[in-house]
Amino acid sequence: MSRSIKEVVRAQNRFKAVEVSKQEPSVRSKNFGEVVLGYTEEQALVEASRCLNCPNPQCVSGCPVGVDIPAFISCIKERQFRESISKIKEKNSLPAICGRVCPQEEQCQKNCIMGRKGESISIGRLERFVADLEHEKGIEAKQVEVWNGRKVAVVGAGPAGLTVAADLAKLGYHVVIFEALHLAGGVLIYGIPEFRLPKRIVQAEVDYIKQLGVELQTDSLIGRLHTIPELLAQGFDAIFIGTGAGLPKFMGIPGENLCGIYSANEFLIRVNLMKSYQFPKSKTPIHMGKKVVVIGGGNVALDSARCAIRLGAESVSIVYRRSREELPARQEEISNAEEEGIQFKLLAAPTRFIADDRGQVKTMEYVTMKLTAPDATGRSKPVPIKGSETTTDVDTVIVAIGRTPNPIIQSTTEGLKTLVGGIIAVDKDTGLTSLEAVYAGGDIATGESTVISAMGSGKIAAKSIHNYLNSKKENAIGMLYQGDLAALSLFF
Ligand code: FAD
Repeated sequence: MSRSIKEVVRAQNRFKAVEVSKQEPSVRSKNFGEVVLGYTEEQALVEASRCLNCPNPQCVSGCPVGVDIPAFISCIKERQFRESISKIKEKNSLPAICGRVCPQEEQCQKNCIMGRKGESISIGRLERFVADLEHEKGIEAKQVEVWNGRKVAVVGAGPAGLTVAADLAKLGYHVVIFEALHLAGGVLIYGIPEFRLPKRIVQAEVDYIKQLGVELQTDSLIGRLHTIPELLAQGFDAIFIGTGAGLPKFMGIPGENLCGIYSANEFLIRVNLMKSYQFPKSKTPIHMGKKVVVIGGGNVALDSARCAIRLGAESVSIVYRRSREELPARQEEISNAEEEGIQFKLLAAPTRFIADDRGQVKTMEYVTMKLTAPDATGRSKPVPIKGSETTTDVDTVIVAIGRTPNPIIQSTTEGLKTLVGGIIAVDKDTGLTSLEAVYAGGDIATGESTVISAMGSGKIAAKSIHNYLNSKKENAIGMLYQGDLAALSLFF
């Protein structure tokens, strides 16, 4: 470490994390460029120097993919940036993505011992720093030369599918990913906006997985192009289903189908995947009113609201039926949204939408909610306050109240057991479904979750597929051996 960095480290309060630069709110609310600019080398060195390198690191147990966090941070301290990213990639093939969108405050950073007296180490920002450095210098993937003779099909190229594919490719499998859309990445490419996760970052990490030898077939909707039994019959030794939860939920209230009311899915796909914010350069337009209301309080609602403000809406309000403390979105993104001028209407729920004479939404009626006393699970229930109906003018409404799995695979695969809402039932320790050689993970097997938990379940499934196919091979060798003995007995 150079002298100047040492001085900066000494001057730094060890209990305070190094702040990261961001685009100014008044500037960023008018563009789709990345909001958080990431650590400089000096900032990363100072932040890394705060890590105590605990002998029993709790941060690792908080990481669903088990990255050796103290080891990669130690490499940063020593300026061994290549070694640092290699350490991360032993467990995580999508580090630049995770460094940007993982809820670290709920996972690795939550367990950080520094967090007990001050601020946890900014593990995500350090991960992003080394991953971005690698992107700048060019990602190198060691292609596995020796094919182990086995083929695995992965359905869906979201974080779960990409993780399974990368882990199995590293073990010598020939992996083919079938993806319904024209681009790989799942929600990372069609849901999370450019200003939180630039698409060139997703593309670079997908390219890295392709460099490992993974074959990607886009525009391939499984359940229509081929069914799961057909893929098995075509010679795939195992299948992983990682098709996510891409079907939007609606409230079922009067007027929900009026013009000017989008599902968050349609809205975000138009904006992110089809790049309508670049219209007419891109071919997909989007209609954005002046007064926008977004229903819901999770990451999807916040992403929609922040896109709307960037698309020129004059006022954007999040309408959420619970209290501020219960907003499921990441705290950092809530603060970012507030700085950008998004308003929060809490403890409120729409009851109906009213149209103008052209069938365009013009009014939202809503009620004020109150929370009941906590039930046995400790959670309060929001209930409407009688007679509290109020109306407000709206031009555009975006419904972001949750997503469920698309049923296409479940309905075309006989014997595939599902749970309530079409979630595929799996053994949580292996990811195995009710069908032999068919595994599932990510949102399709858990319901809406997070990028890193989808990746964690992908890792579990990849390991199980490997164990299953190895045990099948051993059994086959055993049977062959017994067959050989029988054959030999014919001669002797
Ligand atoms: P997905 O990412 O949904 O990928 C599934 C893929 O399968 C898609 O590419 C889809 O096209 C494909 N597919 C579907 N059906 C078929 C079929 N029949 N044949 C072939 N392919 C098919 N999580 C975080 O951790 N942090 C965040 O900040 C965050 N923000 C989010 C913002 C938004 C707008 C959304 C929608 C979600 C967000 N999440 C976030 C949640 C996170 O993105 C998901 O939990 C995660 O992407 C799930 O990964 P997955 O691989 O299971 O599914």
